Amino acid sequence: MHAKRIFWQIYPSYLIVTLLSLAAVFLLSSASITRFYHRQTAGNLEVQALFAEEQLRERFDPSNISELNRICATLGTKSPARITLILPAGTVAGDSEKAPAEMGSHANRPEIQKAFAGHTGQSVRFSNTLKKNMMYVAVPVLRDGRVIGVVRTAMPLTEMDQLMGEVQHRIIFGGLSVLLLAALFSLFISRRISSPLERIKRGAEHFAQGDFSHRLPSTGSSEIGALAGTMNEMAEQLEERLQSVIKERNQREAVLSSMVEGVLAVDTGGHIISLNKAAARFFHVFQPKNAPGRSMEEVFRNVKLQKFVTDVLKGQETRECEITVENEENYYLQARGTNLLGVQGERIGAVVVFNDVSRLRRLENLRREFVANVSHELKTPITSIKGFVETLLDGALKDPAEAERFLKIVGKHADRLNAIIEDLLMLSRLEQGGLEEMEMKSVGLSGVMGSAVEVCAHRAEKKNITVNVVCPDDLSAVVNPPLIEQALINLISNAVKYCDEATVVTVTARGGAKEVILSVQDQGYGIEAEHLERLFERFYRIDKGRSRQEGGTGLGLAIVKHIAQAHGGRVEVQSEFGKGSEFSIHLPGV
Ligand code: ADP
Repeated sequence: MHAKRIFWQIYPSYLIVTLLSLAAVFLLSSASITRFYHRQTAGNLEVQALFAEEQLRERFDPSNISELNRICATLGTKSPARITLILPAGTVAGDSEKAPAEMGSHANRPEIQKAFAGHTGQSVRFSNTLKKNMMYVAVPVLRDGRVIGVVRTAMPLTEMDQLMGEVQHRIIFGGLSVLLLAALFSLFISRRISSPLERIKRGAEHFAQGDFSHRLPSTGSSEIGALAGTMNEMAEQLEERLQSVIKERNQREAVLSSMVEGVLAVDTGGHIISLNKAAARFFHVFQPKNAPGRSMEEVFRNVKLQKFVTDVLKGQETRECEITVENEENYYLQARGTNLLGVQGERIGAVVVFNDVSRLRRLENLRREFVANVSHELKTPITSIKGFVETLLDGALKDPAEAERFLKIVGKHADRLNAIIEDLLMLSRLEQGGLEEMEMKSVGLSGVMGSAVEVCAHRAEKKNITVNVVCPDDLSAVVNPPLIEQALINLISNAVKYCDEATVVTVTARGGAKEVILSVQDQGYGIEAEHLERLFERFYRIDKGRSRQEGGTGLGLAIVKHIAQAHGGRVEVQSEFGKGSEFSIHLPGV
């Protein structure tokens, strides 16, 4: 039900009370005036009746009716009232206004009956004869204690009606004026009562909308002033509490969202209570803020997670499982779920914490792959060595020329094994040591480049390849010279390996304070774009046969990459298939 405004509750009631009061005044005063007038008129009529009775008693002779009538007529001229004399039979013996013969029996008139009983009778009624409201007073005419007749005086009440009309007019007019004044006054009072309440209502609406800075004016009565004061105090306290709740919530959210671990809380019905940023990222939930309140099925597409949360919700103990989220980049998550308990220790849901173990899994995979690759690489020369040794033992030793050829092959494979192991040891040293343990010094780069070229000179000469060195004399860098030399050797020997005869390899050093770039450019076979990305991985080779034939281990470029990284730099390759390649090592400047 729509409640009325307080103004409309107060104002009409004021008006109704005023109206009722006025009506009561009107009715009571009308009744009082009528009563007063009746009493007055009755008194007058009685006096006149008693006077007439005295006159008539002395000369009363029922046999001389005309005399009695004459006396009545005479008395009537001296009095404003009509005077009538009635005999005990009810017949009219005299009347001051009408001929008695025309008048019927008056025996039934109540005032007359009362007078014949010896009392003064009084009555007000409508006179059919005069067509007016009349007042009658009748007194007995006594002789020797006997009622010999009744004198009745009568007067119309028209004067009183007129008077009453006038008085009522005045009362109504006055009443209306009072009503108008009362209406205005009530309006003023009602406003005075309702407007501070309205102000408080508006203030409370501000509070309800969360605007606690609003203050209520403490005007109006003391109660309303006190109410406003209390509400202002309440708003202050609410604001304080709200601020502390918001602060606590923000802190909690900040803690949750900066956690590396994903956190998911659900209620017993499987609806999300909270989901932090990390968890949203793991499961590709794009709007984690909208997640609370929604069901698990709606937000997560991962069936294993849904089942895991259901199991945690059913059981008591902490559970663990590994969840894989498949996407462009797979996530491997270690999930730990436990019951979420309320303040009283009752179960209100479940909380699951996710640890990203993807890196660990990837490293494990890499390690597994690496072990497989190493085993495979070592297996080939070992199988060959074993085969040739068996052939030698089976009799080939007896043929010295054959034996020498086989032993040379065995030696070559042993070299290969050695090369692989050397490279592996180098890689492991680089991985374990890093820059901290390396001896770094500022050296002129032309010297380092010269020694690297010298190491490869023999092989280059064999293929009639010219190796040019371009390096400013004064260009120096802070490096570990043996490592940089090794990196350059690897690059130059690759350039020589994967090149046709009689081509040119250019080794360049350039740069300055910001960066120093060492590059090896060849006019060789070049590399197809699809291989470029994986070229620096261990054991990655484009053409395994050719690499082995050239005595490659598949680790050369991996070593170059690690050396560059150990110096805080990087490697780059640019190549055009069929035209040549350029490998460059970018080192940070001094
Ligand atoms: P490898 O011992 O096989 O040379 P690397 O790690 O040094 O191993 O090189 C990896 C592969 O990259 C090689 O097998 C070869 O296919 C390719 N490669 C390296 N350098 C060059 C180059 N200068 N021109 C063409 N291909 C090259």
